[in-house]
Amino acid sequence: MTRIGFIGLGNMGLPMAANLVKAGYQVKGFDLSPSALQAANEASIATTNSAVETLEEAEVVITMLPAGHHVRAVYTDEEGILNHVTKGVLLIDCSTIDVSSARDVVSAASARGFDMVDAPVSGGVGGAQAGTLTFMVGGTDEAFERAQPILEAMGKNIIHAGGAGNGQAAKICNNMLLGISMIGTCEAFVLGEKLGLDHQKLFDIASTASGQCWSLTSYCPVPGPVETSPANRDYVGGFAAALMLKDLKLSQEAARDSGVATPLGQHAASLYEEFNEAGQSDTDFSGIINFIRNGAN
Ligand code: NAD
Repeated sequence: MTRIGFIGLGNMGLPMAANLVKAGYQVKGFDLSPSALQAANEASIATTNSAVETLEEAEVVITMLPAGHHVRAVYTDEEGILNHVTKGVLLIDCSTIDVSSARDVVSAASARGFDMVDAPVSGGVGGAQAGTLTFMVGGTDEAFERAQPILEAMGKNIIHAGGAGNGQAAKICNNMLLGISMIGTCEAFVLGEKLGLDHQKLFDIASTASGQCWSLTSYCPVPGPVETSPANRDYVGGFAAALMLKDLKLSQEAARDSGVATPLGQHAASLYEEFNEAGQSDTDFSGIINFIRNGAN
């Protein structure tokens, strides 16, 4: 039975760790937050008093943390993973972070002889609970092959995106496209309303014509056409606007670092920033339609 140390038992980490336990792995988890530790114990996940303790006897270490600086610290600090983990351990970081931090940490890990992958996810808390996440994985072929069976216990689609950092690159490119397409879809519905076009009619036509995209057909931002859309639940739950803003900012940081112009990505980031600042950070990201309807520019 493979022993796994799991650091970061928040909204995503906790259900992911629970699925590993369900699949028969022996998991020891740690989080800085006492309430996260308590929730883990209630979900029958063994916990420790420090990150270092989760590493004892671990054959695989998984991290699910908020941002790049947390990941850098947890791996490379004096008391960090790389200084305490035993030889041959596989390292998997599932956090969504900037590409540079991901590449730096993987390179520090490989300099010490460890296999490590960046493996950010798509699918949200629902996907983490159901074990249906998509993992976008960056790393060597060998590291990917070792990580794959473990990721399969938490997800449905495990895709090798290339070398170190390419998992993060895929995640932010995808989510930049998603932010832009959601805003475009919202604008089309708001313009349609002003022109006297019924929501359902616009949906029926655009979803079978060239305007078709996931934001329209799977996550329609107006109530009615797609039963599962957060639009039918007053934009509660789903993918929070704060997380969309985080990913758009990461895309803009990467665009700047690599000298690429992404004008629509930049505009999407500033619209989501205004939306968040208007107190909507917990609202589902498709709720930006109300902001656009009220004259965002
Ligand atoms: P979260 O804030 O709920 O959980 C992060 C956990 O990390 C917290 O419990 C925090 O206490 C813990 N933590 C921070 N520093 C730590 C340290 N040094 N040692 C131990 N624990 C530490 O966040 P989340 O929603 O679980 O998201 C985790 C990652 O997954 C983020 O990078 C996020 O962008 C990404 N993500 C989230 C979603 C989502 O829908 N929530 C979807 C896809 C990707």
